[in-house]
This record gives sequence, C-alpha cells and structure tokens, in this order.
Amino acid sequence: MQISDYIRDVQDFPKEGIIFKDITPLLGDKTAFAKAEEILYTLVPEVAIDVVVGIEARGFFYGPLLAKRLNAGFVPVRKPNKLPYTTIKKEYDLEYGTDVLEMHSDAIKPGDKVLLHDDVLATGGTAAAVAAMIEELGGEVVQCNFIIELDFLNGRSKLPGKHVAAAITY
Ligand code: IMP
Repeated sequence: MQISDYIRDVQDFPKEGIIFKDITPLLGDKTAFAKAEEILYTLVPEVAIDVVVGIEARGFFYGPLLAKRLNAGFVPVRKPNKLPYTTIKKEYDLEYGTDVLEMHSDAIKPGDKVLLHDDVLATGGTAAAVAAMIEELGGEVVQCNFIIELDFLNGRSKLPGKHVAAAITY
C-alpha cells in the first residue's frame, strides 16, 4: 500500500483551474493514516526538537502527532483573530492578494529547535511566512515537513537554506 493512493485530486477546488490535493481519504483510512505518520516521523532529522509548529488547518492533523512522537510541544499558527493572547503576524502573498497568519508571541523561546509542519507545500508563501515568524521569535527551523510537495510550483525557492522534506512529491 502506498499513501499516495489515498490522495484524491479534486478538480476546480476552491476555484476553477485548481486541482486540489485532498488528504481526507488518507486521514480516513486507519492503515494509511498510521503509515503517513510513520513516514513523516522518519523524515525528521535526528535533532532534539523543542516544538512542532503546525499551520491552520490541515497542519493540525499530523503536527500534534509528530510533536508527541518527538517529545516536543505543539504550537498552532492560525488565521487572524483566532488566537486569544498577544500575537505576532505575518502578511504573505497569494495568487491574488495577500493573507495573514498569526502565532502567539511567547510560543517559541529563543534557541528553540522547531519543526514546521503543514499538509501541502505549493508556492511556498505560507511556509516562508511561518518560518519568518519562528525566526523573529528566535527559533531555529530545523526542517519544513509536509505530507505533499507540489514540486512544479517550486515552493522550495521561497525557503532558501531550509531543509525541506515531504512524504509525497508531485
Ligand atoms: P502555498 O503558500 O502556495 O505553498 O500554499 C500552501 C498552503 O495552501 C497550505 O497551508 C496548504 O494547506 C494549502 N494548499 C495549497 N494547495 C493545496 C492543495 O492542493 N491541497 C490542500 N491544501 C493546499
């Protein structure tokens, strides 16, 4: 069994012309769900990780599982006005327009070794914005870890000098 068998292409979602990689079949199958966790965990370098940072919302499925496996904490990065305490924010470019992500200002301690996790690396803008926030708080991004990398969108170019790893590459 390959976990890629459980990724579904959805045409024209969320808008026309986009082929959306849907991970819900992977999440819903007990064997595929566990296998993906194992693969994501195996990708992580052998460095003591202090916190895993997961990006709303699909970074919240495996982010906490990885944190548990790595004996690390979990930090959620969220869309604006969701986090209750003091936040730092980062605006980043979308195909059309911009978006903002936030994290709590005390979520990362200077010197923390951080694993950044999300479901998909597409153009890289999201992960780059989150990496910048982690570094602003004094953290070190040990790896940017994804279930899926859409290699043809060259997201890695927005993460220069970062270790990037994905369980599945298209
Ligand atoms: P980027 O900023 O272009 O790299 O887009 C990455 C963000 O958009 C991630 O938070 C993903 O959850 C989401 N994303 C982009 N493309 C897809 C997709 O095909 N399936 C699921 N999520 C996607």
